[in-house]
Amino acid sequence: MDDKELYRQILGIVEPWKIAEINLEISKQEVHIYLEYPAKKTGNCPTCGKDCKIHDKREGRSWRHLDTCQLKTFIHCRIPRVICQEHKIVTMNVPWSSDQSRFTNLFERLAINLLQATKNRSTAAALLRISWDEINGIMGRAVKRGLLRRNDEVIPCLGIDEKSFLKGHRYATVLTDTQGARVLEVAENRDKSAVDTVFNCLSNKQKETVTAISMDFWQAFNTGAKTHLPTAVIVHDKFHIMKYMNEAVDAVRKQEHRTLMKSKDETLKGKKYLLLKNRKDFTQDERSDFRNLNINQLAVGRAWNRRELLRHLWEYTYEKSARSFFAKWYFSATHSRLEPVIKIAKMLKKHFENIVTFIKHRITNAFAEGINSVIQHIKATARGFRNFQNYRTAILFFCGKLDMYPQESR
Ligand SMILES: [Zn+2]
Repeated sequence: MDDKELYRQILGIVEPWKIAEINLEISKQEVHIYLEYPAKKTGNCPTCGKDCKIHDKREGRSWRHLDTCQLKTFIHCRIPRVICQEHKIVTMNVPWSSDQSRFTNLFERLAINLLQATKNRSTAAALLRISWDEINGIMGRAVKRGLLRRNDEVIPCLGIDEKSFLKGHRYATVLTDTQGARVLEVAENRDKSAVDTVFNCLSNKQKETVTAISMDFWQAFNTGAKTHLPTAVIVHDKFHIMKYMNEAVDAVRKQEHRTLMKSKDETLKGKKYLLLKNRKDFTQDERSDFRNLNINQLAVGRAWNRRELLRHLWEYTYEKSARSFFAKWYFSATHSRLEPVIKIAKMLKKHFENIVTFIKHRITNAFAEGINSVIQHIKATARGFRNFQNYRTAILFFCGKLDMYPQESR
């Protein structure tokens, strides 16, 4: 077998494409393969697929392919243009690459696999011997393909949430499919226009079949859901509510600690995380630490008790029982004599009709919270995101469950 035949088989080059020349440049550790298309043949129009006459050939282009052993391998070709009656003079598609990429489909496929295996853009770029911008380009094309391939299926439950990016100075709005555990869309900011953008990734049919959406109390999310999702019930997210309760516990702790320290009482010193932790997650040491605190003697104990009690709200199966539980909790919270707790209790009462919906719909933003750790990891292992577009691409690439491979395997 000669070297042209060897490469023809390895690359899967099919008639009438031919290998014209192979140059081995050992000093540069590179292989260059020159492909050509016979001028006498006809070719397919990229738009309608009709067989058309070849018009001319474009200037030479190059694509990086999978390495040949340790050698970087490049394909070069002057792609023919055909004359189509309907579409005029158009450049033919090539079987080895797509989407204006400077890499072959097989190379992009490998890059996608490496990125998903390492979850690390720097490592993948180093292994593939390509630049940072090239890695971002491959991810961008992969996400674009994936989004185009999404279909119109019914997505019954959504979650909408905000994330901070660029050191917390800016916000992004993230729309998730809570049952499918995937991110649907990410938009910059958390205002009306961002909310419109994320909802508009859904078709009208999809919008009309959403039954419930989980969210914080943020007004723009609320208004957006009412505008875009006519049949969706709003469910205020349990995790956000518990976060507000935690903030109230912490505010009480801080205040009380300051008062105690005035008389050199160190009871609450170093107890911040113990008091913020969910009781059922305590370790053996934390349990005894907590017992020694004698919490019922403290003001923060009253806040802590209200928070632990509130957790039960989401355990009810019947709405009526949940309502009577909340009424009792509300009475106890508003009689706690603790301003931060009373404030949260009043806020929960105001929004209660969209909190109690959980009993029927049982959705939360847990998945959206979970993607924080993925984002943290991507950020920590690479050079951050630099701009919003890279941030959006990374979230959709790693958390979008998209079908991202180039169509052809060759
Ligand atoms: Zn055509």
